[in-house]
Amino acid sequence: MIEVLQNYIDGQFVSCSNHIDSYNPATGEVHVKVPDSGQDEVDKAVKSAKEAFVKWSRTPAKERAKYLHKIADAIETRLEEFAVAESRDQGKPVWLARSVDIPRACLNFRFFATAILHQINMSTVLEEAAATNYTHQAPIGVAGLISPWNLPLYLLTFKIAPALAAGDTVVCKPSEMTSLTAHLLAGVMNDVGLPKGVCNMVYGVGPHAGEALVTHPDVPLISFTGGTVTGAHISAKAAPFCKRLSLELGGKNAGIVFEDVDLDKCIPTMIRSSFANQGEICLTTSRIYVHRSIYDDYVKRFVEAAKNLTVGDPSDSNNKMGALVSKEHLAKVTGYVEKAEKEGATICCGKEPLSLPDRNKNGYFMRPTVITNIKDDSPAMTEEIFGPVVCITPFDSEDEVICRANSLPYGLAACVWTESSGRTHRVSQQLDVGTVWVNCWMVRDLNVPFGGAKKSGIGREGLHDSLNFYTEVKTICIKH
Ligand code: NDP
Repeated sequence: MIEVLQNYIDGQFVSCSNHIDSYNPATGEVHVKVPDSGQDEVDKAVKSAKEAFVKWSRTPAKERAKYLHKIADAIETRLEEFAVAESRDQGKPVWLARSVDIPRACLNFRFFATAILHQINMSTVLEEAAATNYTHQAPIGVAGLISPWNLPLYLLTFKIAPALAAGDTVVCKPSEMTSLTAHLLAGVMNDVGLPKGVCNMVYGVGPHAGEALVTHPDVPLISFTGGTVTGAHISAKAAPFCKRLSLELGGKNAGIVFEDVDLDKCIPTMIRSSFANQGEICLTTSRIYVHRSIYDDYVKRFVEAAKNLTVGDPSDSNNKMGALVSKEHLAKVTGYVEKAEKEGATICCGKEPLSLPDRNKNGYFMRPTVITNIKDDSPAMTEEIFGPVVCITPFDSEDEVICRANSLPYGLAACVWTESSGRTHRVSQQLDVGTVWVNCWMVRDLNVPFGGAKKSGIGREGLHDSLNFYTEVKTICIKH
């Protein structure tokens, strides 16, 4: 019997008349039916969130923080259930969800629960004018939160946690492909007794449910994470309403490897940055520039390491990679490889057949794929593939590689590998991206800003940026 999900609106699980099939990427079979919500469901959720805002925005921060801690504790108690749901939704290995995604989602709630208790307003006394000026940071209203499928719980909670901590109420529209994970989160919200209407979940597709939220006049804030094309569309739709927008968009992240690196340290991390979560991370490294003097050795060792990554059933903890999110996405990703091959590029690995158990025969699996001898203007080098495909190309000088790395419209992140401290600063400061990792990848604290430059996004998330986004700062000037 296939589970039929319900929206979570006004503290109730409510049925929807239409549904969408959601497929388990590891089996290719329908595993849940998801509400195909539209304007009507979004209207109800926004109405509830607007009513709930009156009380929630006046609930002391200390009380709101207690709810966030309770949510984190409840997710932790159900960690295994969440890990399995994420895997069924998205295809990622259960061990990865268990050890990274779910604990980091708990951290999102705990981090903003404590952060909100330490917000300080500014004040100054103007002696000559005999006046006091001070700031007051107030919640804004109903936040519309739209999230993608690739890190289902982590990215959704990175929006919900700061919004609720700040005193806003929310209507979430997760990707329709990962609604089971969001549905479990709605269950947690319900179990911990979060007041009705504070957090609503409306499932469905972007052009219906998502767009109804973006164009709703009672939703002054939209926080969106997803593709650049969708982000631009949302931006245009929200513009007539003058909404506050946060856009975290796509990337085509460069890795730059200089000749002075220790390849024993560099290669395992670059393998992870290229193929973790099947390469379905916005921060994935998808074009690697290697200094010509070490290029041949680098490619040989990288390809060997890529071939050693096991791909298969996500519930088997021996497998390093699971399935891609959908049949359509698999076709898109393999399409880039086929096109590169037709252009004359070398496919060093990735085309070897997979031997899968019967239950996974119709799943959307793909081996880690390495492409060399590729031109800079090939689509595999310029477009976001969002899969386990990486291109490796040689470079000769620092200036040249900076110019090539900066040549695309994306600017999310980059990795630089060097032992030279001077070069570390020189290169990092010249890369047009939001985050540069030097001799590492994905090492980031929530205190520091996160976001993209150029077409990779507008705005930043993180301690101050998220709390500022979800609040309005008022300046109050009083004459003594
Ligand atoms: P999409 O842009 O296709 O979708 C993201 C979300 O937006 C989904 O919930 C989607 O719904 C919804 N949506 C789609 N169309 C509209 C619309 N017209 N109005 C409102 N909402 C809409 O991205 P993906 O889900 O495919 O995610 C992958 C993308 O996300 C990649 O480009 C990746 O780089 C980016 N990303 C960026 C991150 C960052 O921090 N910069 C982090 C993670 C991912 P539906 O699923 O129904 O289409």
